[in-house]
Amino acid sequence: MEEVFELIKKEEERQARTLMLIPSENYTYSEVRSALGSFLVHKYAEGYPGKRYYQGNEFADQVETLAVEEAKKLFGVPFANVQPYSGSPANAAVYFALLNPGDGIMGLELSSGGHLTHGHPKITFSGKYFESIRYGLDPEKEKYFDFEKIRELALKEKPKIIVVGTTAFPRTLNWEKFAQIADEVGAYLMADISHIAGLVVGGVHPSPAPYAHIITSTTHKTLRGPRGAIILVTDKGLKKDKDLGEKINKAVFPGLQGGPHLHSIAGIAIALKKAGSNSFRDYARQVVKNAAVLAEELKSLDFDLVTGGTDNHLMVLDLRNIGIDGKKAAVLLEESGIILNANTIPNDPNPPFRPSGIRLGTPAVTVRGMKEEEMKEIAGLINLVLKGKKNVLKEVETLCERFPIPE
Ligand SMILES: *Cc1c(COP(=O)(O)O)cnc(C)c1O
Repeated sequence: MEEVFELIKKEEERQARTLMLIPSENYTYSEVRSALGSFLVHKYAEGYPGKRYYQGNEFADQVETLAVEEAKKLFGVPFANVQPYSGSPANAAVYFALLNPGDGIMGLELSSGGHLTHGHPKITFSGKYFESIRYGLDPEKEKYFDFEKIRELALKEKPKIIVVGTTAFPRTLNWEKFAQIADEVGAYLMADISHIAGLVVGGVHPSPAPYAHIITSTTHKTLRGPRGAIILVTDKGLKKDKDLGEKINKAVFPGLQGGPHLHSIAGIAIALKKAGSNSFRDYARQVVKNAAVLAEELKSLDFDLVTGGTDNHLMVLDLRNIGIDGKKAAVLLEESGIILNANTIPNDPNPPFRPSGIRLGTPAVTVRGMKEEEMKEIAGLINLVLKGKKNVLKEVETLCERFPIPE
């Protein structure tokens, strides 16, 4: 047992003295960590508030209802399910609610920044049990989406659902254009905002609520909550199918999951409440500002950025002009305490385990209070490691000491 706590302590220290630049990671709040370690972890509550299969759920019902109401209010939607264990099962539940085996899922290719659960063929449930229809990015187009081509593909393949969501795309998503295509072919439009949910509620990325039928999101990325996910149905979604909420509830439980993780749901309620505050808006704004400065600074140091820059919290560097592959770069940076991940670039000539790029973002360093000045410093440190092959561990530790992880 001591061994495990030793390791947890070491992980805490590792996080304190390194720069967390993986854009899907973040620091949650101490209140959320308390909820995760609370007595709620003991309780079974299969079902939904007021309709449970077990007794003793008086307070569980109130916790879940709080989270549902916060989610509805925050995103301006009439329905929310807060039970999904994480982002992948949330997406699975939507497919099971709406599709039959073999129906088409149209999603962004993995190598272009889509997610495995968006119908990636062969190796995922979403591409094995459903028909996989892929659209890509087109570097020739401004902001990389060729909507005419995407429309033609949708008209030809007639997907039942079009998924729009990204894990490594640095630009604002044009929900309206995707909605026009989905409406024209009669498909459901599902917006997976796992990466950008915090930016949406912070007002620095347009909300998909007026355009999509369904929205899914993890709660542990820019939203700063515990690991978990939410599924939302919009007014537009209920107009298309008034039973959509009911279908989603049934797909989550009993369709896919058993007992909800009440401790996570309590954490979600806390994080959503905080995300509605003015200080969260300031945070989201600073995340985007920091990413813009980091991107500009890296560009001025001759790094190539996929799409030429960023509108959101992340960027992808194409390292081909530096003469180092993404995996080597990520390992080299880790030795200097700069933690990020290797990433494919659109139409990557390299194999996925040795892709040509790296992905980095600002959600976590912004929680530490870092601003524009520090972004310039970080760009300089990355430059020293990747071009000068200099170890900057000392400099990174000094920077981390100046900006401790908040309680
Ligand atoms: C992170 C992510 C997921 C999956 O979330 P997990 O909690 O890792 O299962 C799904 N979709 C998108 C767009 C994501 O960024």
